[in-house]
Amino acid sequence: MSELITELPILPNYINGQWCDSAATEFVHVVNPATGDRLAKVPLSPASEVDRAAQVAQEAFQSWRRTPAPQRIQYLFKLKNLMEEQFEELSRTITIECGKTLDESRGELRRAIENVETACGIPMMMQGTNFEDIASGIDEFMFRQPLGVAAVIAPFNFPGMIPFWFLPYAIACGNTYIVKPSEKVPLTMQKVFFLIDQLGLPPGVVNLVNGAKEAVDAILDHPLIRAISFVGSSGVARYVYSRATANGKRVQCQGGAKNPIIVLPDADMDMTTRITADSAFGCAGQRCLAASIAITIGEARRTYTESIAAAAESRIVGNGLDKGVQMGPVISTESRQRIEQLIGQGEAEGAKMVIDGRSPQISGYEQGNFVRPTILQDVNPNSTIAKTEIFGPVLSLIHVETIDDAIQLVNRGQYGNMACLFTNSGAAARKFRYEAEAGNIGINIGVAAPMAFFPFSGWKESFFGDLHGQGQHAIEFFTQTKVVVERWFKDWSRQF
Ligand code: NAD
Repeated sequence: MSELITELPILPNYINGQWCDSAATEFVHVVNPATGDRLAKVPLSPASEVDRAAQVAQEAFQSWRRTPAPQRIQYLFKLKNLMEEQFEELSRTITIECGKTLDESRGELRRAIENVETACGIPMMMQGTNFEDIASGIDEFMFRQPLGVAAVIAPFNFPGMIPFWFLPYAIACGNTYIVKPSEKVPLTMQKVFFLIDQLGLPPGVVNLVNGAKEAVDAILDHPLIRAISFVGSSGVARYVYSRATANGKRVQCQGGAKNPIIVLPDADMDMTTRITADSAFGCAGQRCLAASIAITIGEARRTYTESIAAAAESRIVGNGLDKGVQMGPVISTESRQRIEQLIGQGEAEGAKMVIDGRSPQISGYEQGNFVRPTILQDVNPNSTIAKTEIFGPVLSLIHVETIDDAIQLVNRGQYGNMACLFTNSGAAARKFRYEAEAGNIGINIGVAAPMAFFPFSGWKESFFGDLHGQGQHAIEFFTQTKVVVERWFKDWSRQF
């Protein structure tokens, strides 16, 4: 076994336009969560490698910011084309290291590419404003200028998409960039950087540093790094936000979630079931926009419980690469154990088990980290399972009498990433949209993920900062405004 481990490839970093071996002395295994196979070793890069990446990125910034925006986006057009060419290969890589089904990986990658496409609009999106004769003979302009070096610290659940909520906008605006992928799923970014390497970008514009806490802390403290985007759990998000802002950086941190959906009795139950089953169990529940609590009203208690239980039971669980599989494993053994422990705690705190997905036997994948879809009923809103982010395929059902009770329950939650309503009533939908305390709202939508040209909002404990990722918010995050007030003493018409 130890022989096998030493044969595993050690993933390089990509700094200053070159692949380079890390000087790390500690490594983590990258594991296929469906099979338990070890795929590679990822170095836990020391702070010195973040420093090197920041130094070269700072150097590259001097000329990159002077490269006209229409020229900068030519690299993004090329990147889009390369990603399209490698679409299937990249999707397979996401599935192999992250566990989701191939279709889910394709969907993730499509979202990544949409962000590249949107950032190609930077010559329009980055425009400032101007005002002639703000006073007699005086004009005023507002320009947007890039900040310098920026970095992203990414989570495990969307290895292909999440760096792309930030990277294309950052470089299109004239910044230079460092990507720190999750140490659990570093392979997809390795492949993306093979494509980035083919773009002919000036060295140092985009850099890749693998690692974990030491690399993150080095990013948070580095004096040359001006802006940091983080996506991950709320505890780490809070830590990253406070340490990096204390160091004077511009920071946006997207945190965890506990997303509620409300099902009214007038909802189209077939459609609602299909959509919400995908929300709760798709990506094995490891989406920050996964439905985690379903609040039923009136007759929906019976009808929805029956239909969602049937949908959960019939979901085909297995290796995401296999045809017909609808749900893959969770990311790690620790994660599976944590999810199963929380399910047990839910039962111990009084919830009724509708479908118990613990310890399934998936033939041929005995080493995989599988949890089948799980549903608990009559969950006490104050219980652990109703309040804790589970990040697994577990749906808690809670019944209330009125839509006001339901919205109150939604708004009691500590997180505010997403809330959804299923109904045929426009009036109910409007009330919900208006009153629900969450940054992403779905009406008859189960995963209310904003398109690339909208900001990925998130409220309360789901977000620390001000400007969100994607769209126009990204432009504001990756630029600083400069206002120029201008007067010319001579009358131009008399000069010639
Ligand atoms: P995580 O917080 O464990 O890790 C995220 C990143 O932080 C990784 O790159 C990791 O190396 C680093 N990190 C972890 N612990 C650290 C520490 N103590 N100090 C410094 N750095 C540290 O998150 P995860 O398990 O990879 O991802 C799942 C979480 O991400 C869930 O909570 C999920 O809701 C959240 N998420 C949120 C969004 C969103 O848009 N709000 C999107 C995707 C995932």
